[in-house]
Amino acid sequence: MNQDSAYDRERKDMVDFQIRRRGVSDRKVLKAMLKVPRHLFVPEQMRELAYGDEPLPIGEGQTISQPYIVAYMTEALRLRGREKMLEIGTGSGYQTAILAEIAREVYTVELIPELSARARGLLEKLGYRNINFRVGDGTLGWPEHAPYDAILVSAAPASVPPALIDQLKVGGKMIIPVGTDFQELVLVTRKESGWEEQRLIGVRFVPLITVH
Ligand code: SAH
Repeated sequence: MNQDSAYDRERKDMVDFQIRRRGVSDRKVLKAMLKVPRHLFVPEQMRELAYGDEPLPIGEGQTISQPYIVAYMTEALRLRGREKMLEIGTGSGYQTAILAEIAREVYTVELIPELSARARGLLEKLGYRNINFRVGDGTLGWPEHAPYDAILVSAAPASVPPALIDQLKVGGKMIIPVGTDFQELVLVTRKESGWEEQRLIGVRFVPLITVH
């Protein structure tokens, strides 16, 4: 068996045992998780661990999220395929690729220039044409392209940044980890006036860095 088909096999097991078995059933999400070559998004010396049930370091003190959490958060947004999306915390670009497989257009913001550049290089090499990159403070969103049908945040603020709620369409959803020592995923649904919050599961993310 060559190396690529070994990774294909590991990826299929990841989807079956870590994701499907834990209850993620959205076909678009499962298809995307089966397709995106996660091993290319981790540092070269960690390729062998890429399909494990854990987050991994990606440099600059940051991490690529655990596969199950990526799938769970994506499913929570109930994407249909035509969405214009905002992602905060590009990181390795892995979650970005999953979103780009499903949504129409992805706008992704990353604070650390080196990570953004690396993710951009890889995602362009993999052929994605529906991703737009920006280096900057994601707490402020990306107002020029707002409003968005859906927003996914992969670093945890102490509370939901108001700018992100403002940039969500009425009826749109945002999934975001919130908290400091104790964090949970919050699903925000934007309403005609105001918004609704639903608390989902406990999680552990790197903090969303506050820039002044
Ligand atoms: N989804 C990424 C997870 C990266 S970890 C992946 O799968 O690889 C969270 C990312 O959020 C890090 O890359 C970190 O640099 C970034 N981040 C932290 N604070 C930020 C901020 N204020 N604005 C934008 N990105 C931020």
